Parts: sequence; C-alpha cells; structure tokens
Amino acid sequence: MDSKTYFGGILDAVKSLTIGLKTSIKVFFEHHETEQYPENRDTLTFTDRNRFCLEMPHNENNEHKCIACGLCQMACPNDSISVISEMVTTEDGKKKKQLVKYEYNIGQCMFCNLCVTACPQGAIRFNQEFEQAVFDKSKLIKVLNQPGSKCQERPKPAVAPKPVAPKAEPASEATKPEAPAATEPTETKKED
Ligand code: SF4
Ligand code: SF4
Repeated sequence: MDSKTYFGGILDAVKSLTIGLKTSIKVFFEHHETEQYPENRDTLTFTDRNRFCLEMPHNENNEHKCIACGLCQMACPNDSISVISEMVTTEDGKKKKQLVKYEYNIGQCMFCNLCVTACPQGAIRFNQEFEQAVFDKSKLIKVLNQPGSKCQERPKPAVAPKPVAPKAEPASEATKPEAPAATEPTETKKED
C-alpha cells in the first residue's frame, strides 16, 4: 500500500465520522416529538375519539341513566357486557326493570363502540383511562355501577358549526338562457 492510499483512507474515515457527528448534533438540538412517559402522565392528553375503558357515569348514590334494557349487551359481538337486572314495583304500583349489576369485561372488549351507539339513554361511554394492565385476570371484569363510587359526567366537546353553503338563486326571466329559435323544416327536392 502506498502512502497516498494510506492517507486517503484516513481522510475518508475522518470525513465519514464528521458527517455522522454533524447529523447527531443536528438531531440533538431539534424539537423532539417523543412522549416522556410515565414522567408526563399528569399532562398526557388524548383526543375524545380514543376508547380505553367503558364506564357508566353515576353519582355517590349510584344514580345513573341506565334503564337495564340490555340493548348494549345484545349489540356486543364479544359478550363483553352482562346486564343483571330485577323487576321492582314503583310507588304508583307499576312494574319496572332496574339495574342490579353492570359487568364489563375489558379483556374481551374490542372497543368497537357498538354498545355505546346502541344505548338509547346515553348511559355508557368510553373514558380516557389508558393504564388498564393488571396482573390478575379477574380484575379485567369491572362493575360499572359501583355504589359508593363516583363517575363524573365529562363536558361535551364543543362542536364547531358547519359552514353553510350559499343558496343558489333561482334564475330570473331576464337571466334565463334563451331557447334556440325554432326553424321551419325545409323540404329537400329530389333531383331527377
Ligand atoms: S366496545 Fe364493542 S366489544 Fe367492547 S363492550 Fe362495547 S360492543 Fe362489546
Ligand atoms: S347501558 Fe344503555 S343500552 Fe345498556 S342496558 Fe343500560 S340503558 Fe340499556
């Protein structure tokens, strides 16, 4: 190997190292999109469309909107919901179905939202609690109407008004396009 090839190789190595270092330094000072989880747990935000866990908003007295109709259970393709109800007699002597226990198995759920869509009362919804990992499989079955617990109503996100398309004005007589003038049919003479 002659000295020219030898020093040329060293120069190439230094050049390549400089290019690599230049890229590293540039990336180091760039704005990073990486989320520093779990350090940022308190400030993490998600869009309202995220579906993490089904919940039933209710107060401390276990008052909720559910009428135990079972439509969500029927709509669920995975048998992830179990609505346990009983018949009670109201003060005016009428029979009424009442929810006893609303069980939801998050381990089976595929977050399709069919149950929420099927509910005529808006009694269930998906929340933003994303940390659902457990060591005990039985903890994946949740009772959503827990007496003594509380599940707050979330304020509904503001919906931006839809832009209204301007109405097309009906064409006035003056602006109507003129129909082409009728022409008299002309006879064509056959030449003998
Ligand atoms: S999101 Fe779908 S799979 Fe999950 S409980 Fe509701 S209907 Fe069932
Ligand atoms: S959550 Fe809704 S659909 Fe399900 S049982 Fe209650 S009222 Fe019916």
